[in-house]
Amino acid sequence: MKRRDFLSTSALGLGALGLGGCYREENRTPEGEIKVQKKVTIKLATSWPTHFPIMGTGVDNFAKRCFELSGGTLEIKVYPKNILVPALQVFDTTSLGQIDAFHSGVYYWKGKNSAFSIFGGMPLGLTSEEMITWLKFAGGMELWRELYAKFNLYPLIGGSTGPQMGGWFKKPINSLSDLKGLKMRIPGLGGEVMKKLGVNPVLLPPGEIFTSLERGTIDATEWVGPALDSIMGFDKAADYYYTGWHEPGSILEITFNKNKWEQLSPQHQAIITSASEEMTGTMIQEFRYKNAKALQELPDNVKIKTFPKDMMDAAKIALDEVLKLESKKNKDFKKVLDSYNSFTKINKSWDDISTKNFLNIRA
Ligand code: CA
Repeated sequence: MKRRDFLSTSALGLGALGLGGCYREENRTPEGEIKVQKKVTIKLATSWPTHFPIMGTGVDNFAKRCFELSGGTLEIKVYPKNILVPALQVFDTTSLGQIDAFHSGVYYWKGKNSAFSIFGGMPLGLTSEEMITWLKFAGGMELWRELYAKFNLYPLIGGSTGPQMGGWFKKPINSLSDLKGLKMRIPGLGGEVMKKLGVNPVLLPPGEIFTSLERGTIDATEWVGPALDSIMGFDKAADYYYTGWHEPGSILEITFNKNKWEQLSPQHQAIITSASEEMTGTMIQEFRYKNAKALQELPDNVKIKTFPKDMMDAAKIALDEVLKLESKKNKDFKKVLDSYNSFTKINKSWDDISTKNFLNIRA
């Protein structure tokens, strides 16, 4: 080892990071000094356009924090969609090691393994905070890492959207029968449930959704919530804005090529882990604030509505059928769903007498 590879703790400023006391032995020289980090550059591709609000700016800030916390030794270069790879090829290219990491939505990869859709969030299921609790404390993350390892990937939670809205409709939905034959842009498990309710779910690239809704090529679309939906201009193409049920807390991911992750020093791994947690918390708070603010600023033509009870009752039955069928077809799906359900059960008992109770009293 060359002399310049070693520096004292104080010269690196690691004391200020609070790493001195618990630093791992493999990072120490025989003299007890901490090895200097070699500079590492990570190529990270996203599924979002350049500086896309909240999600895109969230990952930009994550990269900035990794750089700051590592004293400049960890540089994450963020490539928005289609710069290095197309938006929905980030999974494959990272798996193959052509790029090092990606930031995207987990539900996009259900074609790889339907079990992945559960890590992305469940219709009528857990909220962002509850999802993260399941993942971090109740076995979800271990299962996610186990299944992603088969694709040579190592996932971390990379933010969450908070509760999403149910979508924009050109005509009101007064009963379940009003859904029959409607064309709606809605992906994921929510789309499968809607299909069972008579909707014709379609997939459209984000750039085509507004025009399709405005021209009536589609009758409805979901997207995220007031903050991002108003940027898309949906309030100019449809009047009825429905409250959510299908994406109560969608999880985003920062996922690394597993070999690349294992080559990183424990310090860089710790910095990435911390920065991803910071990003997750911040993104949920930012969505909450910006959705609340954008809701106040929606134009007068917009009517906020809640889906009728007969539709939601049918959605619960349809979801149950979708989950049962998929559990039969895919043992990984069953295993992940069992873990999700056992957390959901204990969480509900506590939530009923805590958060839900508080919210009811507050109301
Ligand atoms: Ca959505």
